[in-house]
Amino acid sequence: MSNFLPFSRPTIDEATIASVGDVLRSGWITTGPKVQEFEKKLSEYFGGRPVRTFNSGTCTMEIALRIAGIGAGDEVITSPISWVATANVILEVGATPVFADIDPVTRNIDLDKVEAAITPRTKAIIPVYLAGKPVDMDRLYAIASKHKLRVVEDAAQAIGSTWKGKPIGSFGGSFGDFVSFSFQANKNITTSEGGCLVLNNEEEAKLAEKYRLQGVTRSGWDGIDVDVLGGKYNMTDVAAAIGLGQFSQLDAITAQRRKLARHYFTTLGKDFEKQTGAQLPPEDCESTNWHLFQIVLPERITRADFMARMKEYNIGIGYHYAPIHLFTLYRALGFREGMFPVAERVGKQIVSLPMFYAMNEGDVERTCEAMREVLA
Ligand SMILES: *Cc1c(COP(=O)(O)O)cnc(C)c1O
Repeated sequence: MSNFLPFSRPTIDEATIASVGDVLRSGWITTGPKVQEFEKKLSEYFGGRPVRTFNSGTCTMEIALRIAGIGAGDEVITSPISWVATANVILEVGATPVFADIDPVTRNIDLDKVEAAITPRTKAIIPVYLAGKPVDMDRLYAIASKHKLRVVEDAAQAIGSTWKGKPIGSFGGSFGDFVSFSFQANKNITTSEGGCLVLNNEEEAKLAEKYRLQGVTRSGWDGIDVDVLGGKYNMTDVAAAIGLGQFSQLDAITAQRRKLARHYFTTLGKDFEKQTGAQLPPEDCESTNWHLFQIVLPERITRADFMARMKEYNIGIGYHYAPIHLFTLYRALGFREGMFPVAERVGKQIVSLPMFYAMNEGDVERTCEAMREVLA
């Protein structure tokens, strides 16, 4: 039997491991020069926009909402198909999450439904780029500007993705507000845990620094003051050293994932959907970083059965994501089955096939072969 093929696995090269050792030996292991260097590199990549790093992707979205002044009485529109963090941060700042159903093809939030969900209390939209695939950015920002809404892009999965040739996170002329990335262990590049927030100006960046560390502001050369309620969200130099090593490989990682995605499409072939009833992702190898390669299973097999059968072939299958509005916490807020039928159908049957940098085309072929047998 061949080795177990997980759905995701980070690759940390030896140079990166050595740089972590250097940090650990340096005597300075918390936020310091490595964090600054990482933020500078990220800022260059995002077209010179201010960037600050944090100890998770989740807190970057919460902080963006705080900087935008969003709180009690405000509504924030987001997708029901995401990691629960996306909706939790809305509750965390005291605002009201409003879900808009997803598009069955892209599995991202449906922008028609976003427009329909806007009320006088709507203050922001959090679009999610599931699997790294951006939404229609021109349309998103046209809606935001027409209704004077802030945008907090949940680009947790989208580092390396582009829109019209420009990286998600940069200003594209027509797009870019707060943009949040995660460097959690499964993401395309990782710091083990961590995230970064792309901001609009130095004033927002200074506020982000305050929210990152207890609201502390430095005033004068020897004094500190606290004028907002912040938390403890700073990234360490240990994590930043991993991030710097990973970031230097971003282009190679994205290229490899695009190559693997293309290989999935060619190996499965044009008739796969017709033969099995499964639904492939949109075949968009240029703008997507292929964080995930997700298929929607036909109704005749349950996800649990599919995952168990694939495990017999020593293949790990991921599951991203259950519809957020059906979790107990959200049901208690009044959400129910039937409210977002596309999200409920897709959320029940979606699976993530193996996809990571160190994988090869043989692994793709092995997965496709097993899948053909399981879905026969
Ligand atoms: C990973 C992820 C998050 C949260 O990031 P953390 O770094 O784990 O806090 C949020 N949204 C999406 C879509 C994600 O994939």
